[in-house]
Amino acid sequence: MKADQLHDDKIEDIIQGVRDLRDADFHVCNHSEWQAKGEPDTTEDTTCSCNEFDAVIDQLEELKYNEKQKGKR
Ligand SMILES: [Zn+2]
Repeated sequence: MKADQLHDDKIEDIIQGVRDLRDADFHVCNHSEWQAKGEPDTTEDTTCSCNEFDAVIDQLEELKYNEKQKGKR
């Protein structure tokens, strides 16, 4: 296996870890909760906090060699 591939696999592991955190029970997404309630009118904050996790995933994706290659095409 090439070193690039090992590097990408390691990043993929970290990405999976972040996804697991995003989907874990302790992460309550205000937006999902709001949708589950039938999207009622509310003054509560219904911002989707999954985005915060996804932003980290995007940054990690940028570190992947294969993604860089794709970007060049
Ligand atoms: Zn969300």
